[in-house]
Amino acid sequence: MIDVLVIGGGNAALCAAITAREAGSSVLMLESAPCEWRGGNSVHTRNLRCMHDAPQDVLTEAYPEDEYWADLLKVTGGLTDERLARIAIRDSSECRDWMRHHGVRFQDSLSGTLHLSRTNAFFLGGGKALVNAYYRSAERLGVQIRYQAEVASLELEGSRFVAATLRDGERIEAKVCVVASGGFESNIDWLREAWGPPADNFLIRGTRYNMGVMLRALIDAGADQLGDPTQCHAVAIDARAPLYDGGISTRVDSVSLGIVVNRDGFRFYDEGEDFWPKRYAIWGRLVAQQPEQVGFSIIDAKAIGRFMPPVFPGERADSIPELARKLGLPEQQLVDTVNEFNAACRPGSFNHAVLDDCVTEGLTPPKTHWARPIDTGPFYGYPLRPGITFTYLGVKVDEHSHVHFGGQASPNLLAAGEVMAGNVLGKGYLAGIGMTIGTAFGRIAGAQAARAAKASGERVQEAIRAAIG
Ligand SMILES: Cc1cc2nc3c(=O)[nH]c(=O)nc-3n(C[C@H](O)[C@H](O)[C@H](O)COP(=O)(O)OP(=O)(O)OC[C@H]3O[C@@H](n4cnc5c(N)ncnc54)[C@H](O)[C@@H]3O)c2cc1C
Repeated sequence: MIDVLVIGGGNAALCAAITAREAGSSVLMLESAPCEWRGGNSVHTRNLRCMHDAPQDVLTEAYPEDEYWADLLKVTGGLTDERLARIAIRDSSECRDWMRHHGVRFQDSLSGTLHLSRTNAFFLGGGKALVNAYYRSAERLGVQIRYQAEVASLELEGSRFVAATLRDGERIEAKVCVVASGGFESNIDWLREAWGPPADNFLIRGTRYNMGVMLRALIDAGADQLGDPTQCHAVAIDARAPLYDGGISTRVDSVSLGIVVNRDGFRFYDEGEDFWPKRYAIWGRLVAQQPEQVGFSIIDAKAIGRFMPPVFPGERADSIPELARKLGLPEQQLVDTVNEFNAACRPGSFNHAVLDDCVTEGLTPPKTHWARPIDTGPFYGYPLRPGITFTYLGVKVDEHSHVHFGGQASPNLLAAGEVMAGNVLGKGYLAGIGMTIGTAFGRIAGAQAARAAKASGERVQEAIRAAIG
């Protein structure tokens, strides 16, 4: 029988599998995706949020534990387990040597809309390169990997893991199991339970394989759950993005430099409420609440060069009526909205790097910073849709990554990554913390799984010795 079964094929699964193998366990990893699509949402990532007390290679200045913790407390509004959060935060200060040892490389942070050089270490080649490096390392160490191996159900005795059954009916026993199969963000039927029919117009920013099958299985088996099942992290992305795997390049970062209108040509929210890195995550939800879940970011020539261009070029026109026609918006209403906005803009000193004094007056909703008339052609428009990044529902674990059932830790069922991230990030988002949680608890789960497998093996030996007399 295999020692450690790891379900999933992204960052958390790989960290768990490699660590368990390093500790001497036999390890089998089951990834539901085919090899060419392996790696889950982890392939789309760019960076990891790291605590550090002084400048470290790619990280500038310091980002001490208490500041990291305070940032987390703020975004979650207290929906976080301090003990587990501090474990992840501390691990982030020392995990990079281990990551490098397994082939991950870091690079100086990119400049652009999100300024993160102090807090986040960027992966050279992005998450795809990280995942490929881990797979190479896992294979070299002798981790057995199977692709297109979706686990359909779990067999438990009480809270004790017995076996996993694949979609094709194959049953696999193991001494210990680590579930690292992500959230349920790819499962539009499940998203519809919370959002109703609007969910049909959502796009999934990451993998199509995070269907939440294991999350559902754990919850159905009585695992303690946490996180609001109706909530997800969603950003406004280009409406022309593919249904799955559009990734980071489909995000539209022009919002704060212009106006956003809905399908009917009306504005619906303050585009200049705060710096874009602090606001981009609310726009998915805002667009989701509009008719047909669509919005349009409208800018003029003055905005060009001030934001990271998305992968699809915007529609370009020499006049607002022409832009309306190209975007399929009601022509007169868009002209009226732009004229009304332009007339409400008060003169100020435009500065996109500060919360400047360019505001509208007497306009509902207002634009409270960076409000400049849209009057200089050519004009550009980007269609927007809600893009789901991840869901918050997960299972409760303890500091050793054991899944809890009725407040008690399972002896041999562990969880890591997005499937338990709600223990640390109950709501909100802090850029780079998904990989922090997955790396910390993936490695903890791997080490703990190896220990539990060894203990279980020793118990079996003892029982045999006792039976033989
Ligand atoms: C576009 C985008 C950009 C992001 N950028 C960042 C970033 O820069 N930094 C950051 O920290 N976070 C980022 N995130 C969030 C980050 O991707 C996740 O927090 C992280 O990847 C979760 O890792 P994981 O291993 O838990 O899940 P995943 O990497 O999603 O892996 C889950 C795996 O489980 C497999 N699986 C699912 N169900 C089954 C099953 N039943 N049987 C077998 N296998 C199964 C999937 O195929 C997949 O391989 C981003 C997310 C997206 C979508």
